[in-house]
Amino acid sequence: MKPPIQFIGAGGAHDVHLGNSAALLQWNGKNILIDCGFTVYPSLVRHQLVEDIDAICITHLHDDHIGSLSALLYHRHFISKLPPVPVIAGIPELYSKLYTYLHFLMGEVERFAQVLLPKGYASYIEAISTTRLHSPHMPSCAYLFTSSEMNLIYSGDIGEPLPMLRDSEWLEAHPSLYVFHDVAFHPTPSHCYYQSLHSFLGKVKLWGYHCDPREAPSDNQIPLVHNELMLERYERGAR
Ligand SMILES: [Zn+2]
Repeated sequence: MKPPIQFIGAGGAHDVHLGNSAALLQWNGKNILIDCGFTVYPSLVRHQLVEDIDAICITHLHDDHIGSLSALLYHRHFISKLPPVPVIAGIPELYSKLYTYLHFLMGEVERFAQVLLPKGYASYIEAISTTRLHSPHMPSCAYLFTSSEMNLIYSGDIGEPLPMLRDSEWLEAHPSLYVFHDVAFHPTPSHCYYQSLHSFLGKVKLWGYHCDPREAPSDNQIPLVHNELMLERYERGAR
């Protein structure tokens, strides 16, 4: 079974031709946008999805993850006349920086967005702090989406495999687990080297993103979202 997620883009920070990594997740009857980098708003407009988003989860504040968030919020407010959309910041440090960022850009944030921690939105979204595992100064998080049928992790940018992948008790408590993980094909402290993920492939259903597939070495075993889970194949859900 394919996971209920379509990627809007799946490139690394400078792979503009592949789109910034971001995804639309259909979970518990909601369309949840994960990240909104500088290529994402134009893609959402092109695919007529601006008004279909019920909530937005932000992993961290680098431009390839947040660079068109204010454009999306302005569009929904001024053109679509929609009420403020929940914008979820996984952890308190990210919450306060995200709020400050939006306040600096947009003034009265509450006109455009409800900035929330996950528990303020829904019990089925949890954040996993990855602060200092991507960038020394940047609060960051992964998201875990839970349901009785399946669980799904979106790693965000991270320099090593998510710690819970090594925790067999945690994995047992989260069956039918889909993992979408940052992958890099060159060693770097900010992104996850592909070889360090190979040992998890038999344990969880894992896909890589935030990379350029053309750079994948011949020994790469990580399936990439670029090949099968892109927005072009997105079919509108119940709406
Ligand atoms: Zn990134």
